[in-house]
Amino acid sequence: MSKLGQQTIAVRGGIDTDTQHGAVVPPIYLSSNYTFKSYDQPREYDYARRGNPTRSQFAQALAELEEGAFGVITSTGLSAITTIIQLLSPQDTLLIPHDCYGGSYRMFDHLARRGLFKLQVVDQNDEDALSAALTHQPKMVWIETPSNPLLRLVDIKSLATKAKSFGAYVVVDNTFLTPILQQPLKLGADIVLHSCTKYINGHSDVVAGAIITKDHQLGVDLDWWANCIGTTGSAFDSYMAMRGLRTLPVRLRQHQESAAKIAEFLQSHPAVEKVNYPGFDSHPQHALALSQQAGFGAMLSFDLVGDIEQSQIFVQEIKLFCLAESLGGVESLVAHPATMTHAGMEESARITAGISNSLMRLSVGLESVEDLVSDLSQSLDAVLASI
Ligand SMILES: *Cc1c(COP(=O)(O)O)cnc(C)c1O
Repeated sequence: MSKLGQQTIAVRGGIDTDTQHGAVVPPIYLSSNYTFKSYDQPREYDYARRGNPTRSQFAQALAELEEGAFGVITSTGLSAITTIIQLLSPQDTLLIPHDCYGGSYRMFDHLARRGLFKLQVVDQNDEDALSAALTHQPKMVWIETPSNPLLRLVDIKSLATKAKSFGAYVVVDNTFLTPILQQPLKLGADIVLHSCTKYINGHSDVVAGAIITKDHQLGVDLDWWANCIGTTGSAFDSYMAMRGLRTLPVRLRQHQESAAKIAEFLQSHPAVEKVNYPGFDSHPQHALALSQQAGFGAMLSFDLVGDIEQSQIFVQEIKLFCLAESLGGVESLVAHPATMTHAGMEESARITAGISNSLMRLSVGLESVEDLVSDLSQSLDAVLASI
């Protein structure tokens, strides 16, 4: 058969593989242990921390979608990261972007302070700072694109080429776009990771993570580490997330279509100062988004006119967007980074980083887009009336 389309791979993961009863949807294997066939004769699976058939099916589907050689399913996105950084030793440097996911930053920072590795933080779009950082030849270069909450992009191919010239591991956190919209392994990355908690599961009812490697042996090594340090994912979560994965391409199409309409609407409203959305010609990296991504995604952020009071009014008035952290579920969400995801940052540093008091972040869900627009409209009108 010719190479399967992503939608086929997503839908068919594990389908029609049950040899015992012919179940169309594969059963969940909840057993924590497996019998030996006989004395000194282990089977493929022996103990569920090390291996589990449900988890393997999910890993296989994700590896195929990313066009990688090996997949490892972990208990959370952060445990995927914990597993990947086992590749680092105390003399090694990890180079990370200054605006990576807050939980990733917190872990890197605290582990580096305890001497597990050296940490360098850089704005990867500042050419001079990046060149200076790369002269230290980091063992691992971490990329997260688009960034949260400002939707800044990093050129994966260009940075991977530079990092490869001295043999660094290139890791891409692909949570925001998923393999449907961006395939970093094809752009030169060695390792991709996901918080499956977000779009991949897509229903805000599972916390899980995944690692996919380009090289088979590197995947085997990380799989060994996941068992060694106990970061592997559960069978039930794998089942749930694979169920979500089946509709990922279809969901993303609608998420993106609605996000594009909402971005246009926000741009036109007088209560909105600026919209951060890579789909606009005016986005500084629109051309990169077109070449590197297969779509613009469904995350966006915008500055309201006014200050912190206006963000409070906006949140009080909005009905169909839940005020909550996380993203990528069927339901629309709004987050206020200044008091939520980035509350730990000092105000001046936060504002210098572009995260103003009135910046709002949206995860556009699958509700009727007309309803979402009319909800945003009434809430923005209230913001305008307050000025
Ligand atoms: C949520 C998230 C993580 C962490 O994943 P968990 O599943 O919450 O542990 C890592 N990176 C990005 C970009 C995320 O959005």
